[in-house]
Amino acid sequence: MQSHPPGRPRTVAIIGAGPAGITAAYQLVKSGIRTEVFEAAPSVGGLARTIDLWNQKVDLGPHRFFSSDPRVNKVWLEVMGDDYEMVNRLTRIYYKGRFFYYPLKPFNALANLGVLEAMRCMTSYGVQRFRRCNEQDCFETWVVGRFGRRLFEIFFKTYSEKLWGIGCQELDADFAAQRIKKLSLLEAIKNSLFTGNGNQHKTLVDQFAYPHNGSGEVYRRMAAFVRNNGGSVECKQPVHRVLVKDRRAIGLEFENGEQRFFDQVISTMPLNLLVTRLANVPDRIVAAANSLRFRNTILVYLKVESTRLFKDNWLYIHSPELRTGRITNFRNWAPQLYGDEPSSILALEYWCNNEDPLWSEKDDRLIDLAKNELNKTGLTNKAVISAGYVHRIPRCYPVYVRGYKNALEPVEQYLKQIDGLTVIGRYGSFKYNNQDHSILMGVLAAENIAQDAKLHDLWQINTDYEYQESAVISKTGLVREPSKSRGLPAPAPVPSAA
Ligand SMILES: Cc1cc2nc3c(=O)[nH]c(=O)nc-3n(C[C@H](O)[C@H](O)[C@H](O)COP(=O)(O)OP(=O)(O)OC[C@H]3O[C@@H](n4cnc5c(N)ncnc54)[C@H](O)[C@@H]3O)c2cc1C
Repeated sequence: MQSHPPGRPRTVAIIGAGPAGITAAYQLVKSGIRTEVFEAAPSVGGLARTIDLWNQKVDLGPHRFFSSDPRVNKVWLEVMGDDYEMVNRLTRIYYKGRFFYYPLKPFNALANLGVLEAMRCMTSYGVQRFRRCNEQDCFETWVVGRFGRRLFEIFFKTYSEKLWGIGCQELDADFAAQRIKKLSLLEAIKNSLFTGNGNQHKTLVDQFAYPHNGSGEVYRRMAAFVRNNGGSVECKQPVHRVLVKDRRAIGLEFENGEQRFFDQVISTMPLNLLVTRLANVPDRIVAAANSLRFRNTILVYLKVESTRLFKDNWLYIHSPELRTGRITNFRNWAPQLYGDEPSSILALEYWCNNEDPLWSEKDDRLIDLAKNELNKTGLTNKAVISAGYVHRIPRCYPVYVRGYKNALEPVEQYLKQIDGLTVIGRYGSFKYNNQDHSILMGVLAAENIAQDAKLHDLWQINTDYEYQESAVISKTGLVREPSKSRGLPAPAPVPSAA
């Protein structure tokens, strides 16, 4: 622990013990700053936590950790030691009864699409290459511009509409730009033909590090470190609002009405709630914050009495006739998750808004829906589905509605004027973060505070941030990437739900 230089805050309060908040706490405690974390949920880890279910461990949907940023990977390895597996990633797209490998494998794609459809796709792609459409402000024109309309309709449209609940023309191009960036069809085909040439786009990376006891283990260990080193982490302690006086954050008010005072506050609570609960916020800022939309997720876990269902870590369900968008098979992550249990746990994801009837549907009806849909795919091989469990996650995804930045920008400017308040995290800063982005935000927020300097503008950290060095986690620790290709640090095969 370091001694306390003058100018640094003595006490920091952190709202939320998800990856962003607990990483910030972990780093601050190492700097010798008294840090108190307040978490609304009964346990730490946020969306990346791991829960116990039917004598096994499962995450809240698939949680693959991947980063090429040495700062992020260093912290992750420091916490996990060698208590992780390198998992070979296998993910396929299920579309109209067929399975498409992703990254695309030309022969598999050809066999599945059929020669005629494949030719249509290539023609539509070729036409698009000549057309050169400049209007790429929405998701649809962005993807069509790179992949052609036919492939857009097969591989992007239905899935994206399930995920976001809005048409692809209403979805901002940022979503595609951040998640699939420079990947083009030609690059995907090139990579599938010439794998291992060290020049793969990062969306095609096919191994990832996974903690033996689930993704939440990282954050559980960080919380233990904070508690053992002079900090505190209080669960079931929802914060109502941040107290601000003379444009300076001075403490927190909890849901139970209690107030506590701190030198600085880091917030990872939903941005709209943070802003609208502050005192004396101008109406236009309240209106802007209220216009930011989030999408919910319902996870339906099913216990299937078989250990050999399908080999993928997860499947993307593009078929329009099924409402589920993704199916995770936790049997294919790490053996420590299931131990000696002779069954597999699958999680089916359903995305919806608060006002959709599905969100308030009874649990047993949701379990029936998931069972029926799973059986329709044929993935269970007629094995018995012996139990179901429903987990609802509100505000799971910040929705990048076209033009959302016009609302985010004034909110950001307003919050920047409040001294001693740092806003980070996925719904905390309305950025479509993966774990690695939230960990990075936590690391950099702690650095700003510990060094009492605005070293990093945390609002600038997006899912497509650039970094100087590139190093990835391997079984033996951190290794430099063979190529220093820059770009998307968190890969996704299609602009996927993470
Ligand atoms: C289904 C699904 C799949 C995903 N797959 C991947 C993946 O494969 N790879 C990957 O890297 N990432 C994945 N993610 C994303 C990953 O979970 C998030 O990026 C990460 O959890 C974000 O961390 P965070 O700390 O910013 O936010 P969160 O995890 O949301 O944590 C915020 C915390 O703040 C707490 N909180 C909120 N309000 C209050 C309040 N008022 N008072 C006190 N506490 C409060 C919450 O309870 C929560 O614990 C996935 C997410 C989902 C939902």
